[in-house]
Amino acid sequence: MTTQPAAFATLCVHAGEIADAHGSPHTPIYTTTTFKFPSTAAVLDVVEGRKAGALYTRYGLNPTIQALEEKLAALEGAEAAWAFCSGMAAESALFLTYGRTGIVCLGDAYGGTLELLSSQLPTLGIPGYFLLGDELDALPSLLKRGAGLVFFETPTNPALEQFDIAAISEIAHAHGALVAVDNTFASPVNQNPLLLGADFVVHSATKYLGGHSDLTAGALMGAKSALAPVWSWRKNLGQAIAPEIAAQLARSLRTLPVRVERQNATAMKVALVMQAHPQVERVLYPGLPDFPGHALAKRQMKGFGGMLTIEIRGGGVAATRVADKLKLFALAPSLGGVESLATQPCTTTHHGLTPEERARRGISDAMLRLSVGLEDADDLIADLKQALG
Ligand code: PLP
Repeated sequence: MTTQPAAFATLCVHAGEIADAHGSPHTPIYTTTTFKFPSTAAVLDVVEGRKAGALYTRYGLNPTIQALEEKLAALEGAEAAWAFCSGMAAESALFLTYGRTGIVCLGDAYGGTLELLSSQLPTLGIPGYFLLGDELDALPSLLKRGAGLVFFETPTNPALEQFDIAAISEIAHAHGALVAVDNTFASPVNQNPLLLGADFVVHSATKYLGGHSDLTAGALMGAKSALAPVWSWRKNLGQAIAPEIAAQLARSLRTLPVRVERQNATAMKVALVMQAHPQVERVLYPGLPDFPGHALAKRQMKGFGGMLTIEIRGGGVAATRVADKLKLFALAPSLGGVESLATQPCTTTHHGLTPEERARRGISDAMLRLSVGLEDADDLIADLKQALG
């Protein structure tokens, strides 16, 4: 009998799961910090890398963590994955391994990433370079100067700007640089950067992968040989995911496509209604035909995601008034959970930037970023309408 390669939803449920001696359908939680061996020779087999196996949980050599990593790799079409205790842990291990000659960050990125690249890593002699979407012509010259890693989010936060993963990877590779895409906003349901030419995918698994706003975790996916040196940084910086969180994350991944496909559909409904609303100046959503990045999104995304940004008529004060009147959308600066969240970027994710820098990045005070959850679409639309008044 021939077996078909498993489809995405099947991988979400079954990839990486360990069949234990008791017939558990899912990987058990191994909370132990260490694992015993029958002999010194068996210890050395694992320590010296001849055999894969459990050894010490901080190393990530724990069956619950290893099972999760196999599932994470499968979902991005990667050879391997490392699971981390947060998205920032995954990013920092990647930057320390591959960014030491300089990191070029394209477009908008999560505030913590921008702070790490612009304030902390330069103190270690690691230069950070920043190019906005209309400044990509300068990328080759930065790469010629020796920057070894290009990093970007697509879609970006909060403007949902699209970056062309295939084209940017081609430029970077022509200059000997590697490419890492933060795929947090899209999730592997909607976009697979490795299949488009990127070398690494980073996730804040705290968002769609976890999906319930109840765990903090990160993931890095890529080729086995490329991930190998990152492992030592994770081990010695103590950044591995805890086994309890690994099991919780694996549980969430089993329902990932069901959640994200519904969130895609609801976000599209919300976007269309908001676009027609007189109090809304502009809706930024990759699925809308008149969105500037729509054609590229259609090419490189399989679904348009659960994130959208609406610009309220009347500016920042009006946007705050709408935010404060929301009842079903919770006012919280995160995303990707089953509950819908709203945030005004100038008061949260981009509060640390000067008004001038926000303006340069096209982030207006009138923006409200929405993370669409799993509530009924009509209820969410009714909430927005009552808040828009
Ligand atoms: N990347 C993106 C796009 C994010 O939104 C965040 C957090 O909000 C991070 C990375 C950092 O992830 P974590 O909070 O899990 O460290």
